[in-house]
Amino acid sequence: MGSGKVTTGSAPFDFQGKHVTVAGLGVSGIPAARALHARGALVTVVNDGDDARSREQAEALEALGITVRLGDGATLPEGTELIVTAPGWQPGKPLFQAAAEAGVPVWGDVELAWRLRGPDAAPWLAVTGTNGKTTTVRMLAAILEAAGLRTAAVGNIGVSLLDVVLGEETYDVLAVELSSYQLHWAPSLRAHSAAVLNLAPDHLDWHGSMEAYAADKGRIYAGNQVACVYNVADKATEDLVREADVEEGCRAIGFTLGTPGPSQLGVVDGILVDRAFVENRQKNAQELAEVSDVRPPAPHNIANALAAAALARAFGVPAQAVRDGLRSFRPDAHRIEHVADLDGVAYVDDSKATNTHAAQASLAAYESIVWIAGGLAKGATFDELVAASAKHLRAVVLIGADRALIREALARHAPEVPVVDLDRTDTGAMLQAVTEAKRLAVAGDTVLLAPACASMDMFTNYNQRGDAFATAVGELRA
Ligand code: ADP
Repeated sequence: MGSGKVTTGSAPFDFQGKHVTVAGLGVSGIPAARALHARGALVTVVNDGDDARSREQAEALEALGITVRLGDGATLPEGTELIVTAPGWQPGKPLFQAAAEAGVPVWGDVELAWRLRGPDAAPWLAVTGTNGKTTTVRMLAAILEAAGLRTAAVGNIGVSLLDVVLGEETYDVLAVELSSYQLHWAPSLRAHSAAVLNLAPDHLDWHGSMEAYAADKGRIYAGNQVACVYNVADKATEDLVREADVEEGCRAIGFTLGTPGPSQLGVVDGILVDRAFVENRQKNAQELAEVSDVRPPAPHNIANALAAAALARAFGVPAQAVRDGLRSFRPDAHRIEHVADLDGVAYVDDSKATNTHAAQASLAAYESIVWIAGGLAKGATFDELVAASAKHLRAVVLIGADRALIREALARHAPEVPVVDLDRTDTGAMLQAVTEAKRLAVAGDTVLLAPACASMDMFTNYNQRGDAFATAVGELRA
């Protein structure tokens, strides 16, 4: 871990009279364009699409004096001095190539919010990782609240950082979820402390390679002041800490499901303990909470709780608040959500397990499972997941467009496990899947929807997929 090379904050940016191009109309582009215009920038919005909705949005912006160019998001407008992009725009796009050639900087929504925050703005405790971000950020906010701090869970979680930074409300500290896309476009962000929960291949089509994806995640540690929190079980996260340029005195803090060493948080005899933010950490440890205070107490979720606790403790939160916060935390829907018990079989909705890494964590949490899986694979392979999870599988019900990929991996690594392959992708398929799962399950089993795939082949999103599962379970019960 290098230190002292980066100073906190960033030079104030004077937008007055600057030609700023906003890339992408939409949830982040429209408020960005307005905020920049209000600060005297000469704003041009460019957008690939040119449909009825974007024309309506364009009209509203043009009425303010903002220029909007629909149907051409590729050409760099003449005279552009800065681009502010929607986070999802891929770095390989021609617009950014043109910007790089012209030496024009590119900021994302997070960078813009960071630059526009006031001088007394609340520090950020930031979280990224392939899986567990939303859960960890919500746990963190609950802990900070239990400590009596004014806080909010913001960022990629669905609350715009720009809105928060420009809003009326004042905060003591923010719990910030950041995606790899957002981090890619946030060069000067400097968090108080930050955590990378885990790193597994995801969104590689966007980043271009695993190395580029990891490097973007690693940006979250740049300039950290108090703690860089990493996952002891995931060496790649520790490597990112080692490579980071941080403030003088910033510490590397590990979290582990095992017994913690000095400067780590971990678990001893069912108790979450802190051996990082205590006096004499060679000898002492502070009890924070019990494993049973974490809901649900699945291993990966304990890891999320430890990461949240590490960030809160880095901010100076007392141990009691960690316990109170974790007890008051309620998981979001479709994340290992217990739907019902029928004839001694538990039905669990983890529709949010949209990649193999998430599904593997979820499958490790139950002993004997009838697994409902499948959907859009997004280029993933399933061998590792199936090989690691085979011993937990009573049976498998496959749905969705790319189910053959999972079926083939099952044939290779778990040939004895019965598989029902549902050859339909209409929304009614979920009732049939749950009916088959019920037939295959015996008392003590868990029927687990953890698709390891995206949902858009059959559903609008993972929420609708999870709702369909819960509805189907309800119909079985009736
Ligand atoms: P994210 O915001 O990163 O998508 P969520 O907290 O919404 O993460 O959890 C998404 C899914 O990832 C969960 O439904 C669960 O299957 C899985 N998951 C949660 N935490 C972890 C973790 N620490 N490691 C692996 N998988 C996890």
